[in-house]
Amino acid sequence: MFFAFEGVDGAGKTTQIAQFCDWLRSLGHDVVECRDPGSTALGEQVRRLLLDHSETAIGARSEMFLYMTARAQMVDEVITPALTTGKVVVSDRFLLSNVVYQGYAGGIDPAAIWQVGLTATRGVLPDLSLVLDVSDEIAAQRMSRPLDRIEQRGAEFRAALRRGYLAEAARQPERIVVIDAGRSIDAVQSDLRQAAQRVLDACSTGGRA
Ligand code: ADP
Ligand code: MG
Repeated sequence: MFFAFEGVDGAGKTTQIAQFCDWLRSLGHDVVECRDPGSTALGEQVRRLLLDHSETAIGARSEMFLYMTARAQMVDEVITPALTTGKVVVSDRFLLSNVVYQGYAGGIDPAAIWQVGLTATRGVLPDLSLVLDVSDEIAAQRMSRPLDRIEQRGAEFRAALRRGYLAEAARQPERIVVIDAGRSIDAVQSDLRQAAQRVLDACSTGGRA
């Protein structure tokens, strides 16, 4: 079983993932946490390249492929081994982030990113992506640290991110769930667990969500 958490920075992913993994462990699951990009030696190096305030120019397509590189490595080293031994994987972001940031907000055709992504991941996709949806105002309030290279792109860019997430959720309602994350941590966590429970139940009865 594979869950991915999605949403803009400041939406509450890190906060919610910690509680969500505690809950999964309390149910007896063996949980593997990872973050995309990252969680492998190569992936963490690529992450630094992508998010640091460096002078290196990175064009939109190059950026997309760098994310794919990190993700391909993470699938091989972390996710596939975990899934084949019956563990539950919880990833902080996955391919949907790429589709939304470099696609809907970045100008690359979202369908092309899905296609490249399926090659990069060998078809390994989250059973459920949980999109933490917040307004720009709330996300900004929650972000106390300086913005990284991607986050500095302005209000127009962030509005496009939100539209992208909602569009993909509308297109794939079985695999992408939008949670109103502008509420209390507990209220959001409760909805996340409810959505995940449905997928866990479907899996344990042999069906597919
Ligand atoms: P992300 O990982 O999506 O960037 P974080 O989990 O790091 O978001 O949350 C950003 C900040 O907002 C943190 O300081 C966190 O404590 C706070 N925060 C997270 N969720 C909520 C919430 N539901 N209500 C109020 N503050 C929150
Ligand atoms: Mg985070």
